[in-house]
Amino acid sequence: MRRKGLKILMVTSEAAPFAKAGGLGDAVSSLANSLSSLGHDVRVLLPFYSVIPRDLRQNFHPLPGILSVHLGQEHWARLWEFSPPGRPCYYFIEYDQFFFRDRLYDGPYGGFEDNPQRFAFLCRAAIDLPEFLQWIPDVYHVHDWMAALVPIYLETVARHGPLAHTGSVLTIHNLQHQGYAHRSIIDYAGLPWELWQPDKMEACGGINFLKGGIYFANKLTTVSPTYAEEIRMPALGCGLEGVFRFRGGDLVGILNGIDQDLWNPAADPTLPANYDVDSLSGKNLCKMDFCRQRFNIKEAGSRPLFVAVSRLYSQKGLDVLANILPWVVETMDVRFAILGCGEWLLEEQLASIMRCFPGRIWFYRGYDETLAHRMIAAADFFVMPSRFEPCGLTQLYSMRYGALPIVRATGGLKDSVVSREQGVNRATGFVFCDLTHQALYNAIGWACATYYDCPDDMLTMQQNGMRRDFSWEQSSRRYLDCYHWAMEKKT
Ligand code: ADP
Repeated sequence: MRRKGLKILMVTSEAAPFAKAGGLGDAVSSLANSLSSLGHDVRVLLPFYSVIPRDLRQNFHPLPGILSVHLGQEHWARLWEFSPPGRPCYYFIEYDQFFFRDRLYDGPYGGFEDNPQRFAFLCRAAIDLPEFLQWIPDVYHVHDWMAALVPIYLETVARHGPLAHTGSVLTIHNLQHQGYAHRSIIDYAGLPWELWQPDKMEACGGINFLKGGIYFANKLTTVSPTYAEEIRMPALGCGLEGVFRFRGGDLVGILNGIDQDLWNPAADPTLPANYDVDSLSGKNLCKMDFCRQRFNIKEAGSRPLFVAVSRLYSQKGLDVLANILPWVVETMDVRFAILGCGEWLLEEQLASIMRCFPGRIWFYRGYDETLAHRMIAAADFFVMPSRFEPCGLTQLYSMRYGALPIVRATGGLKDSVVSREQGVNRATGFVFCDLTHQALYNAIGWACATYYDCPDDMLTMQQNGMRRDFSWEQSSRRYLDCYHWAMEKKT
């Protein structure tokens, strides 16, 4: 039976290329593109941050009228639209008091104190938007704690209005951030006080946005099948494992896809040379160019190049890599290039290691997307020893670019990388289990030995990864099933 096109409203705090702090922004935009290309009416609401690049902002158009946002007190905001033909329609809500800041979520002293108010505002705006547009969605697809109040509004104050039959799907991209707030946020958000109960939004005497969203959303998803299992257990449930077990029947793990146009080594305009699975000579040029620029050396092919591109937070396990890096470069003939920013101490540690090993280790402190593309194209190996990883996108990018990922067996890393021990004809990388110094050292040594001793295996593994299909095709169909399940619950 052919299903009719759906009206889908995504609510998110990030969407690439407008505003992005990590994989959430990539995942939302590329899923929206995929659903739109399947013929669905996809619209995306996010804040009008001042960090949105000026050249993108130039294409936004103001919508006539002012949106009235019905929090505890009424707020008014302007909306901007960006609606390229054949693509999802983006709405940006302008409210400078909340969104005119240098960064999305935090400043030099940690998360912004008013984050609960900022994102309660976004969620309530999402509820008020459909009447303003005269467009009622079939389903809301909301992402992470920042949008988790939407299902709560839908099941409480908006239960009997025009959204009475609109379903909700909540996707958890990262459980580490849950949105804790003082209980007074209930009044601010204009929600009923009966929500302040342990089996609704209450947690440790305050309010937990994500917990409430998990209780109230019609369907729950997370971004890989393994992570959907892991979060039901205390080790990775971040205190919500009981809630996930309670809602277990409605929780589905769907692996993220990637934007295969944006991440395409055969046509990537940021690379010094392009290449594809049948001819990797361009990849060697990328490596040579990178090594010449960053290590000040001419030859490229002789030593393996290991790369990491990441936020520098404990989740990513790069502190373990930093601890063993001197040992690795003293005992193996390798080069390391790392791009990242985050925790100051880890940044400092990496910077000082680089100073001790010039020509062997290079570290760039910062966020630079062009450099990320170039490094992944230049890399022989991509290191990702995450403590936990809901999905992870960079290991997918690296496989597509012929860099073999070295990953810990957790979450989406386990679901997406086939380890060398599974046989060279299937393998796409190296998988290890324990996050210990020795285990990571051994995994790097394993990769290094493959590079020097088994170049044919290395090439086969690169080609295996480059031939894998990481498009959204399959995953977006699974999301459509979730939307239909959510809608059925509301009929
Ligand atoms: P997470 O969402 O946990 O940060 P993912 O692997 O899902 O991890 O996505 C990370 C995204 O952010 C990728 O697109 C990656 O290229 C990008 N990224 C992370 N750190 C940097 C950086 N320092 N510079 C450029 N891009 C980065």
